Amino acid sequence: MRSPKRKRDTTLVHAGRHPSEFGGVVNTPVVRASTVLYPDLASYERSRAKKFGALRYGRYGTQTAFAFEEAMAECESGDGAVLYPSGLSAIAGVLKSMLGHGDHLLVVDTVYGPARAFCENELRRCGVDVTFYDPAIDSSIGELIRPRTRVVYCESPGSLTFEVQDIPALAAASKSRDVAIVVDNTWATPFFHQPLKLGAHVAIHAATKYIVGHSDAMLGVAVARNSHLPQIRNWAAEHGVLAGPDECWLALRGLRSLGARLRQHQETAKQVVAALLEHPAVRRVLYPASGSGDSNQLWCRDFSGASGLFGMELTDAEPDTVRTFIDSLDLFGIGSSWGGFESLVLPSNPVRTATLPHWTGPLLRLHIGLEDPDDLIEDLHRGLDVLRAANSPTERKRNVQDR
Ligand SMILES: *Cc1c(COP(=O)(O)O)cnc(C)c1O
Repeated sequence: MRSPKRKRDTTLVHAGRHPSEFGGVVNTPVVRASTVLYPDLASYERSRAKKFGALRYGRYGTQTAFAFEEAMAECESGDGAVLYPSGLSAIAGVLKSMLGHGDHLLVVDTVYGPARAFCENELRRCGVDVTFYDPAIDSSIGELIRPRTRVVYCESPGSLTFEVQDIPALAAASKSRDVAIVVDNTWATPFFHQPLKLGAHVAIHAATKYIVGHSDAMLGVAVARNSHLPQIRNWAAEHGVLAGPDECWLALRGLRSLGARLRQHQETAKQVVAALLEHPAVRRVLYPASGSGDSNQLWCRDFSGASGLFGMELTDAEPDTVRTFIDSLDLFGIGSSWGGFESLVLPSNPVRTATLPHWTGPLLRLHIGLEDPDDLIEDLHRGLDVLRAANSPTERKRNVQDR
């Protein structure tokens, strides 16, 4: 029996591993299966009694998936985990399992773009009423809760602008009202943040990001408390949703080094943020671990660390010069997703419906990988110098004259 006092690094190493069941090998092997054979009909019939977590047909998962489910449930302090082929599919599956025609959903306005699209298109088409709320809301969320509100959907920090949400306040305000708090915890991972311990009912992860950690697999997870686990699990099983064993194996491999990697992502990101703030072309960095605003205070209270993803607001720059800046970087890849060992950059264009935008300069999103911070800082400063030169009035005049 595992000790409840185990520290999180120990959990990452040991959770979900049962070497004695696999001839002593350290890692649960990749078990690929559709058909599973039984010695006689009676044992086949017996196997159907246990619906989940036991090998009976490939669609319900094999030992590789069970190991990853067990590990994630333990890391998030939940009662069980359900796997999906991507992070977005986890979000869609969880919401679909909890909401039906006539129900009401509250969604944070800073939600991941494709999740917003799912709510606005698919859920509304199915007759779900969707309201977007300000990420800064506290217990006053109670005023938005209606008799048919079933879910308060959170993402903390929010995509692209990184506002941290007051999960304990939201949980307290919805406690007596049969409303589930669902949190997308992809940015922090369970290593730095555990929403279920703060009163949430479901935590969702795009394991695609830090958990897999090497930019080579797509995978989603929902970790839930017993209050909501059966309905989430049944929905996934009834829709034939599953995660492949190779993806689960890559995620288990990633999980073992998650703590070591995240500490380094955090350490390097903090150095890069400090260096960026010294550059005159940077107006602001949107990083919960930086500054002294509400997000930083909530982050200090509820998180034990910060990952390597943040936003950066430039001082006013022409769109073309932002392009020049991005293209001038050597070490920052240009591409979707994040959470791998490599640094990335993209321009970001947040969409808002409920809350007003509070930035004026162009926004970028940076992922700080595991490269040496000195090299990353040099690359960024060089790029920002290029941007500043391209943006300065004399330079602009010259460009106009050149035309
Ligand atoms: C990437 C991401 C997702 C979606 O994950 P996929 O595996 O790409 O589908 C969900 N939530 C957040 C916060 C993300 O960054």
